[in-house]
Amino acid sequence: MSEEKKKKFLSEDLTVVLYKMKEWCEHEEYFETCGLIGLADNGEYSIKECRNLSQDPTNTFILDPLDYLFFSEEFKLLCIYHSHPKGDTEPSQMDVKASENACVPFLIYSNEEKKCELYNPRTSEVDSDLIEKIKKLV
Ligand SMILES: [Zn+2]
Repeated sequence: MSEEKKKKFLSEDLTVVLYKMKEWCEHEEYFETCGLIGLADNGEYSIKECRNLSQDPTNTFILDPLDYLFFSEEFKLLCIYHSHPKGDTEPSQMDVKASENACVPFLIYSNEEKKCELYNPRTSEVDSDLIEKIKKLV
């Protein structure tokens, strides 16, 4: 993924941020798009598209750990998003494992179904009120 493709966006409105996510996922037809959604100290929501380092980006994603590191230094991480260009919003076994290991909710967008779903791990480091807020909006 080229540098100019790594997009960033900030808004006070979480709905707008989620809309951006859908737009960016839709933009990539063949590969899984991935990124981070977070909250800034001033109350703004932030979204950043990250590099998908997977050898098989059609079916899986591996988020660039450096993107993760820099983002979480600047923002409180709310969730990791990625797209399923083919298939539904159901998290794969790998998605479940990764979300559980990271203790971070996964937001999955299906390009086919044009909708997204939040997978919330058993142990989450993210504020449950904010998770509920995202759940209501997707
Ligand atoms: Zn997935």
